[in-house]
Amino acid sequence: MPPGPEPAGAGSAARAAFERPYVVSWNLTYRCNLACEHCYLDAGPAAVDSPAFADRSELSTEGCFRVVDEIAAFAPECVTILTGGEPLLRRDIVEIVRYGAGKGLWIVVGTNGVKITQNLARILRDEGVRGLALSLDALDPERHDAFRRVRGAWANTVEGARILTRVGLPFIVQTTVGAHNRGELGAIAEFAHDELGAKVWNLYFLVPSGRGAFVSDLDRGEYDGVLAELAAIQRRWSSRMLVNAKCAPHFVRTLLTAGDEAPFPKTFAGGAGGCPAGTHYMGIRPNGDVTPCPYLPLFAGNLRQHGLRELWDSSELFQKIRRRDHLGGRCGECELSSMCGGCRARAYGMTGDVMAEDPLCSHVPGTLRDAVERLRPAAVAYGESASRTLAWEPAAEERMQRIPAFVRGMVTRAVESWCEKNDVTVVTAEVLEGIRARMPTPKVFGAYATPSGEAPDDSSKA
Ligand code: SF4
Ligand code: SF4
Repeated sequence: MPPGPEPAGAGSAARAAFERPYVVSWNLTYRCNLACEHCYLDAGPAAVDSPAFADRSELSTEGCFRVVDEIAAFAPECVTILTGGEPLLRRDIVEIVRYGAGKGLWIVVGTNGVKITQNLARILRDEGVRGLALSLDALDPERHDAFRRVRGAWANTVEGARILTRVGLPFIVQTTVGAHNRGELGAIAEFAHDELGAKVWNLYFLVPSGRGAFVSDLDRGEYDGVLAELAAIQRRWSSRMLVNAKCAPHFVRTLLTAGDEAPFPKTFAGGAGGCPAGTHYMGIRPNGDVTPCPYLPLFAGNLRQHGLRELWDSSELFQKIRRRDHLGGRCGECELSSMCGGCRARAYGMTGDVMAEDPLCSHVPGTLRDAVERLRPAAVAYGESASRTLAWEPAAEERMQRIPAFVRGMVTRAVESWCEKNDVTVVTAEVLEGIRARMPTPKVFGAYATPSGEAPDDSSKA
């Protein structure tokens, strides 16, 4: 049994920890104005062979409203990511945003950025969108356009980012790593921050799903090399931009071996750090099919026939994927299981078994046991409300409203604990700013938090 918190799914504490999702990624449509060669959803107009993507139907506007009602009733504090395909192609996107924001949801839009205009950005902002996620895959427009298979895509996305900055809508920049950009990752991070004004840069690793199944991925050695490079980029941008790996939960292994400068690794309540599929995260397909992760073409059921809560609580698939103590191969023996768990979508895509070991991880279980014992990462409990023990000024309260609701309890506890240790009795905006400035990364209290919080591996389409 790996040391550290209780493995996910092992008992009632774990069940309580997985009471509801903190991130819902909702693919609203298969339509797309690009034709990216790695699209995990096989979106766009091309013929689709895979049975998992054969039903291209979409929920109606009323159907979407019903889903919003379900999310608001079941997981009101979660981050709801509206994505696609290209979600901005839905004519009712503003209605859906308005309805969701009206129900109090924290709405983020994942888009390729091509369709963003000043007018649309203002509308989205005014209707309650909290942030966007844009995809940028290369510094060279031609290489980006070749990967996205539409000429002019790079210029439109970059212009979209500039519009968002002008309008005051925060955004993440996300990059999918591959042969097209392997040599310029550091430069893309710099461009995202210095030229575009991104507060977050996420590097995505391909998962074999949809058209991504036919695009050559990195082999294990290259994967390790990219993760090591990413750890260095993360350190370089510490306190200025949040840099993270997505669809690569064993990044924690890289950080643990990188020495003292690495950000402190964490796990989540229930021992389900790393891959959040089915423990803190769920996906909804355009037709209402529900999955533990948008990259995983396995479905618990459809929202036209079942309730969201019912599928989350009782479906065989969600119950199964939470059982880290049932993982196969090296993931099953691994001392990092509670912080990693391997990418379940990659395991499924490459082996057909969702509980198999992550084939692209090169870790030899047991070799980091001492490091894990030494660190004993604390379990983070998202979503709990925290009672206040100190006085909070209105400006500080207002600032807390800018971070996703599901992390507010955790942040409140951290702030009050810091204040108590430092004899501060009233929490002001200046106190929050002082704490933020000391953080290794600007995760919270900045002009905004990460639009998607920290948990999602799919903050939007890749
Ligand atoms: S063996 Fe599995 S759980 Fe361990 S680090 Fe690799 S992917 Fe993660
Ligand atoms: S959330 Fe999905 S893409 Fe991310 S690591 Fe888990 S299975 Fe893989």
